[in-house]
Amino acid sequence: MKFAGVVGVEVFAEGVWVYDEKGNRYLDFLAGFGALNFGHRHPRIVEAVKSQLDKIPLSSRVLFNALQAELASELAAITPGKLQFCFFCHSGAEAVEACIKFARLATGRRKIVAMKNAYHGKTLGALSASGREIYREPFEPLLSWFVHVPFDDKEALAQAVDEDTAAVIVEPIQGEGGVIVPPEDFLPFVRKVCDDVGALLIVDEVQTGLGRTGKNFAVEHWNVEPDLMALAKSLGGGVVPLGAAVGTQRVFEPLFDRPLLHSSTLGGNPLACAAGLAALKVLREERLAEHAAEMGKLLIDGLNSLREQFPDLITDVRGKGLLIGIEFANEDFAALTAAGLLQRRVLTAYTLNNPRVIRLEPPLIVQPEHIDQALKAFAEALAQVRNLVAVLS
Ligand code: PMP
Repeated sequence: MKFAGVVGVEVFAEGVWVYDEKGNRYLDFLAGFGALNFGHRHPRIVEAVKSQLDKIPLSSRVLFNALQAELASELAAITPGKLQFCFFCHSGAEAVEACIKFARLATGRRKIVAMKNAYHGKTLGALSASGREIYREPFEPLLSWFVHVPFDDKEALAQAVDEDTAAVIVEPIQGEGGVIVPPEDFLPFVRKVCDDVGALLIVDEVQTGLGRTGKNFAVEHWNVEPDLMALAKSLGGGVVPLGAAVGTQRVFEPLFDRPLLHSSTLGGNPLACAAGLAALKVLREERLAEHAAEMGKLLIDGLNSLREQFPDLITDVRGKGLLIGIEFANEDFAALTAAGLLQRRVLTAYTLNNPRVIRLEPPLIVQPEHIDQALKAFAEALAQVRNLVAVLS
């Protein structure tokens, strides 16, 4: 791959660092789009996976899989409200697919209300709930009975949600939409609108979950209890792919006597569950959600002072915990700054639905010295962009 003058093939990674084939070291402030909350190759998670590899990595699918039961029980204990049953898969999109199907099954209704600019993945169901035209248009017609309303438009939401509605699906903070944090009353309002008509609330915590925003799950910032939650990315500890749809008894009841209505041969395999169990232990014992809140504050403060120094380039800095978006005056400034960061060996990316926003989401194990290093590279990259703009104009 060649990008912005930097040629690099990743060959090794550890903690917050990625190394290329020439031995160059990169500070990873993207962390696989949020899939590496625990850093690369967290030793306790790698150890758990290695040990499981020597026992039974994949399930026979006939005998009971104890690790899957254990992980489901751990997730039931830490997810909010009455979430207590799990379906396991491998990716965020698959977790969302399961949530959509379970919501339709449990309510006997078809309509799904989603948010404009949402990102839920790229399989057909998840894409039908997603809100960016360039990803949708080549595959239309997508699934019917999906309706989109603007994120944070309470009136439009109240109008769209009716007695045909199976569920509202929402990211507590829109990640790929440009790191959009809703106003305080929005998610409680979504919950109420669902309750008023007996619709279910699906929260997509694929990117915001597992400590990323300074709480184990982002909905905890607003004390909202969903009926279904989609998880993936960091759930496998950054070592093995793992996703889950976690739901209440009401949601899962129709599956009790028909468990094969929705299934996945390799989903919830013992290797992935060993990784997930170790990840949840690390999250708890290393207090990573609290650490993310502290480190996020440091990073946002530093970025806000850069915004004051470069108001011609940066128009906004926002986020919660270590899910942070920096909005630029235009897409070119964002792309040039990301390229400047890459030249300085700091890995970042724009948000998939909004290329004017660069997202910073380092592993939650990040330390103040890494944040200083990233901010220094950011300041240099911004100065370089400003000089370039001055030369060209
Ligand atoms: N939901 C959200 C909120 C996401 O951010 C993403 C990925 N960026 C997905 C779902 C899809 O996950 P995956 O790429 O694992 O299918």
